[in-house]
Amino acid sequence: SGGQSAAEAPSSQFGKLEGGVMGEVVVRFPPEPSGYLHVGHAKAAMINNFYARSYNGTLIIRFDDTNPAREKEEFQEEILEDCKRLGIKADKVSFTSDYFPQLQDMCTKLIKEGKAYVDDTPQEQMRLERGEGIESRNRQNTVEDNLKLWDEMLKGTPKGQECCVRARIDMQAKNKCMRDPAVYRCVTDIPHHRTKTAFTAYPMYDFCCPVVDALEGVTHAMRTSEYADRYDQYKWMLQACGLRDVHVLEFSRLNFVNTVLSKRKLQWFVDEGIVDSWKDPRFPTVQGMLRRGLQVKALWDFIDEQGPTKANNLMEWDKLWTKNKQIIDPIVPRYSAVGSDAVLFHLVDGPPEPLARVRPLHPKTAEVGEAAYFVYKNVLIEKDDAALCEQGEEVTLMRWGNCVVDRIDKDGEGNVTHMEGHLHLDGDVKKTKKKLHWLPALDTRLAPCVLREYDHIISKKKPEEDDKIQDLANRNSQFDTAAMGDPLLKHLKEDSVMQLERRGYFRVDQVYWPGKRALVLIKIPDGKSKPM
Ligand code: ATP
Ligand code: MG
Ligand code: MG
Repeated sequence: SGGQSAAEAPSSQFGKLEGGVMGEVVVRFPPEPSGYLHVGHAKAAMINNFYARSYNGTLIIRFDDTNPAREKEEFQEEILEDCKRLGIKADKVSFTSDYFPQLQDMCTKLIKEGKAYVDDTPQEQMRLERGEGIESRNRQNTVEDNLKLWDEMLKGTPKGQECCVRARIDMQAKNKCMRDPAVYRCVTDIPHHRTKTAFTAYPMYDFCCPVVDALEGVTHAMRTSEYADRYDQYKWMLQACGLRDVHVLEFSRLNFVNTVLSKRKLQWFVDEGIVDSWKDPRFPTVQGMLRRGLQVKALWDFIDEQGPTKANNLMEWDKLWTKNKQIIDPIVPRYSAVGSDAVLFHLVDGPPEPLARVRPLHPKTAEVGEAAYFVYKNVLIEKDDAALCEQGEEVTLMRWGNCVVDRIDKDGEGNVTHMEGHLHLDGDVKKTKKKLHWLPALDTRLAPCVLREYDHIISKKKPEEDDKIQDLANRNSQFDTAAMGDPLLKHLKEDSVMQLERRGYFRVDQVYWPGKRALVLIKIPDGKSKPM
């Protein structure tokens, strides 16, 4: 589905880049390979792609793989595919881990120049000291002492593991990000997914992000506005390392109601088995949303509309799905489906053999094409529709005409089991109260379907910081209905999108497999219905 790239967006709220020169802009999208891309990452990736394309520049997808504990090859592959799905074209794929040797040398240089020191203060104490502006007892250690401990870190010795390297900036700075942030730490127990056991000391984000940006020639680094406090620190690192300057821009972090956008929390849902995988249609991941029937263009329009605002925003799913509906409604074919508990309606004067007719697949858009359908003496109508019919009532069978209900049979519990009537094709379709969708009762030709609807994975609209995910998780969020559909549904390919009349929009998640399995159709939210 989708396919239109962010760069093709007709008009963008995202303005010009300060200092942006045509053909020379270099931007990067730096995901950590610790999960699949979600809607927030998509925003970051799409904005970067937009600038790269509009300046005829370069987009680097850089895997920010500095934390062996969280990262996996699988995630790396999926992220690249996710970018493709979003229409994002990377001009270059790189890895922070490719720069480990240079980062290590850079750190050595900082220590030698007295711009960094090695600290074995326990983490918790360091945190307290940072809060209160207290200098570490190691802050004035000699370069020789620091280099000795740094060597322990590089060897991953027990002593080295107690240490981290800190930039010597300013412990009294108002901006606490300037209070000697850590630039290197030891991880010895878990091998890195790419460099394996070659390194025991790993650079921290606050160090490698600016350094690698500069080394890769990034001209404009974009990050979410909660990093605003780290702006001074970012610039300090570049200067301290003697590297070229990089423009830093901020954009707002995207959040959505009734979900989580933390990879750690999403992983929890996968581990608990509440969702099938990272690709689950309930997930706010790129793959989840596309499986739910989201068109890439709808996502870009949505992001573009927010523009470069820096305020954090909590978005409603309805807004996104409304855009999506506006895109799919004019172009997707219409079909009928009835529940598997549909009622047989016998039309005594209907055609004794199925009679083929042709209809447009879309009421307004001729380009969608035409298809055959069959009128027949026996039709199936929805159980709920049957329950509302009255004896003697004239009703309209869509795309056929009027008929009169002559007989309604019910079982002991009052459920309609069978109906009989006769055609009244001269009747005025504008005068009937009921317009019923129906299918010819040709059981073997109809397409067996599962209509799948979802609710949110989080029951609370706006989860708070101290809410426990276990308490918020909605463990009952998938609803299947068995149905029978237009015979044409049997030929649809995976990913096709349609409207089932009077039921809404659906996407083919699993195609029909003769005699083996039903089609699985996933309900696409339209921005109105209660569940997303
Ligand atoms: P997590 O903390 O869940 O692992 P992250 O935000 O650290 O996620 P990264 O892989 O580091 O994930 O993110 C890659 C890029 O995507 C970063 O540049 C980050 O700014 C951006 N990004 C992540 N989440 C959002 C969001 N909700 N809205 C906008 N941009 C985001
Ligand atoms: Mg991150
Ligand atoms: Mg995060």
